Amino acid sequence: MSLGLKAHGEPTVYFTLGSLERLGLPHALTTRHCPGVASFAEPISPEAPRAPFRAEAAAILGGAGLEMSRVTYARQVHGAATARAPLGGGFAGLVDILVTAERHVPLAIFTADCLALVLYDPGASVLGVAHVGWRGTVRGATPAAVRAVAQLGGRAAALRVAIAPSIGPCCYEVDEPVTAELERALGERWTAWAKPSRAGHVMLDLWAANEALLCEAGVAPDHIDNPRLCTACHPELLYSYRRGNRGRLVTVAALP
Ligand SMILES: [Zn+2]
Repeated sequence: MSLGLKAHGEPTVYFTLGSLERLGLPHALTTRHCPGVASFAEPISPEAPRAPFRAEAAAILGGAGLEMSRVTYARQVHGAATARAPLGGGFAGLVDILVTAERHVPLAIFTADCLALVLYDPGASVLGVAHVGWRGTVRGATPAAVRAVAQLGGRAAALRVAIAPSIGPCCYEVDEPVTAELERALGERWTAWAKPSRAGHVMLDLWAANEALLCEAGVAPDHIDNPRLCTACHPELLYSYRRGNRGRLVTVAALP
């Protein structure tokens, strides 16, 4: 069920989701108008990691109730490995899933077309975030994120999951090398998430795929909030790697 996106700032610098707000979870999904978020041209160096936010971004996200001095982030590698946020936050390694049971430690995922998932069990007070593109989908990042939250005491059936703005089936054309990987990992099921386009290509619905994978992992369908805002359809508002942007959106959430 979606209670919709709420815009903050003029122009909109970030969104919040009504579904997560109602649960009291501090969070923000930035737009291209949020200054101070490091681009793809400034990758995180594992040897000398620095939080990929400058002061302007920290101030804006601080306004969303996020203590950015404790932000946890990773060098994302399109995999399915998990890291627990270091005590007090900071660099968590080369992973695509971050989890915590510590209050007020923001977890950050960077995207520009890929899905960012927020997974929250309000009863157990456990939080996870995940970066899931087609490679992450093939490599099992979504069920791995549900398992990672469960390892900290979260229950799949109690999880509330949100999907940040990402590329929709309207704009996500892929070819045989991608569909072959999907078939290898997930069998024929992938065809339910694809519609034919040009010869040798399909329009892939990563939203439907990952919603199905979440449900298979035990998440209730009506606990998934996907505002279905396509990055490639909204160049004035969002960044899309496919559309040639090298800026990044960030999804950040912290336990209250
Ligand atoms: Zn689109």
